[in-house]
Amino acid sequence: MNDSCYLGIDVGSISTNCVIISPDGEVLFEIYKRGEGSPIASVQQCLSILAEQMPESMRIKGVCTTGSGRILAGAVVGADVIKNEISAHARAALHLYPDVQTIFEIGGQDSKVTIIRDGAVVDFSMNLVCAAGTGSFLDSQARRLNITIEELSSRAVRSENPTNIAGRCTVFAESDMIHKQQIGHEQKDIMMGLCQALVRNYLSNVCNGKDIRPPVVFQGGVSANKGICRAFSEALKCDIIVPSYNMVMGAYGAALIASQSYIEQTKFRGIQVADHPIATRGFECGDCPNCCEIIEVLDDDNVIGRTGGRCGKWEGKTGPRELLRGKGPAGPLAPSSSDLETVCGPCSRVDDVPDLIQMCFPKK
Ligand code: SF4
Repeated sequence: MNDSCYLGIDVGSISTNCVIISPDGEVLFEIYKRGEGSPIASVQQCLSILAEQMPESMRIKGVCTTGSGRILAGAVVGADVIKNEISAHARAALHLYPDVQTIFEIGGQDSKVTIIRDGAVVDFSMNLVCAAGTGSFLDSQARRLNITIEELSSRAVRSENPTNIAGRCTVFAESDMIHKQQIGHEQKDIMMGLCQALVRNYLSNVCNGKDIRPPVVFQGGVSANKGICRAFSEALKCDIIVPSYNMVMGAYGAALIASQSYIEQTKFRGIQVADHPIATRGFECGDCPNCCEIIEVLDDDNVIGRTGGRCGKWEGKTGPRELLRGKGPAGPLAPSSSDLETVCGPCSRVDDVPDLIQMCFPKK
């Protein structure tokens, strides 16, 4: 029996996910864990759970990290590959549905659309500022109604006469929802109206101008909500595919990337990293007027990674700070998030999608 396997880790703003696959891409273990503020602690907890589940004979041959915390997570575990989440989600969707044309991904705090043609990413965009097209919009409205998000999902699909909710932002949605409750709309109709409001916002803000074609694959935490799936299906007049691993597609894609990266000797630091005393500390790089805050990742006082900085000079560097001090920016500066439009530029094949920060066009 071949006990080789590959590990993908997706560290997002709301959850941390891990997937272990066999060399031929079969999912062996999956973990979805809501983060409690510390991505490093979440990664360590996921590794602890994996240590309990995996047979001792199993050997991790390669690791890829993705998501907004991919660099920190990569330093902690010793990643062989670090990829942005557009690439990871696209890789997983294409593996399961080779003819996919559009990928919707809605998480707790961000949402994205990726356009695929002939098996390659040709366009994508994401929300950077507005919560009205993300899971946090529904979370806050469910809290307002004093129900769980699962209840909201199951009640919304029973609606036969959805309420029209003005949902261009959470503030308007909330006041309109209160008004509709007061004039006697049924709760299930209000809930379906909220789902439709989220979908309207997503299609007009995130997908604005994109060529949305079926098959459409819907992934990310919000894809578990049946009311949202129904709203998408009705708005686009097509079936919406929700994959079996919809909550962990980023980690699945990362594991697939690791398995296809021809890694001869993994840099993985071992599952026992779960018990290491990992800490972070920050310092200011004063080598140009940007004065970026740089985060150092420490394992038992040894620097195992650095991240932060708009020029990338500290990324992944572990040597003494003095070696990099005083040399000025390394290469062109990446734009800060406040400089970015929400729409990103067309890019090349899925293998070549560079980090998002380099793909977005600065404001004119
Ligand atoms: S842009 Fe580069 S050189 Fe300038 S402060 Fe940031 S990390 Fe340092």
